[in-house]
Amino acid sequence: MTDNQGRTIDYLRISVTDRCNLRCVYCMPEEGMESIPHSRIMTYDEIIRVCRILAEHGLKKIKITGGEPLVRKNVVWLISEIKKIPGITSVTITTNGVLLKESYEALVEAGIDAITVSLDTLDPELFRQITRRDELSPVLEGIQLAAKQARVPLKINCVPMMGIQNQGILNLLEYVRKFAVDIRFIEMMPIGLGKQFEFVSEDALRKLIEDTYGEMTLYCERRGNGPCRYYDVPGFTGKVGFISALSHKFCHECNRVRLTADGFLKTCLQYDCGVNLKPALSEGVSDDTLWKMMKEAILQKPKAHHFEEEKKDAEDEERGMSQIGG
Ligand code: SAM
Ligand code: SF4
Repeated sequence: MTDNQGRTIDYLRISVTDRCNLRCVYCMPEEGMESIPHSRIMTYDEIIRVCRILAEHGLKKIKITGGEPLVRKNVVWLISEIKKIPGITSVTITTNGVLLKESYEALVEAGIDAITVSLDTLDPELFRQITRRDELSPVLEGIQLAAKQARVPLKINCVPMMGIQNQGILNLLEYVRKFAVDIRFIEMMPIGLGKQFEFVSEDALRKLIEDTYGEMTLYCERRGNGPCRYYDVPGFTGKVGFISALSHKFCHECNRVRLTADGFLKTCLQYDCGVNLKPALSEGVSDDTLWKMMKEAILQKPKAHHFEEEKKDAEDEERGMSQIGG
């Protein structure tokens, strides 16, 4: 499938739940958000159906996300079913890692192709301040298990936010060096609570890394599903990557759409554009009708985000990141 800009759309990020066992300051308010009632959450059968129809039209890669995907019951069953859909070549998950240790075996058995764990700091006190929960230990145990077993690729995602030194970015780098896994630095997006924080630019991080470890070399081969640019760093087995939606905009090569937990097929991170599939799914419309709805929305995918502009559009997204899935 291609959109009106000629971009190939072959990647779907599915938020399977808007609930979470952490409360990251840039993602969810301390008191949590009003959860989507169970009656409005996409059932697994509905999610599988949407994936199957999209796969018939070129969808290849799927990311399972949330909220925290591992808090939804039987999510590994969903993964194993999506893996069976003809045309789907990759199903990966992004998790905060709190439940990774106990879920790892089942995820691998279900056929997960890669696991990404979000980890912003190794400092227990800072972790508690950022996530408002005291869960660093289980996250690190999960990462350790996944890195040791190495049955599927493992990556760490970090959102730098409050002064590079304070967050212990160099400690994190030493940590991933020890475990020989990739780390990706994601620029803070001005979505929901993320608007309150300054993003740390890729250039500032690169300077810090090069000053510490030496010159980085761009890794030119394809790695992963998205817009991350990876580098080799002297002394590192894993790669160091950057997802820099603000300082190095990549909309022209955007290949993704998103499905929220309540069934909105969302075609751009910034704008509230797309189509609500849940009512049509509940009414039992045909596959053909569903495809027409999705195709129309995908064709109209906005050309680019305009986060860098101050203005506030009526179409700007009201959902927070925990509802969108990152
Ligand atoms: N709960 C899971 C987790 O934290 O990995 C999956 C959902 S979370 C919304 C997905 C990713 O989005 C995480 O890596 C998180 O750090 C990132 N994220 C959340 N809010 C963000 C923001 N405002 N800007 C950039 N990344 C953000
Ligand atoms: Fe939860 Fe992930 Fe949002 Fe943190 S970033 S509050 S772990 S959904």
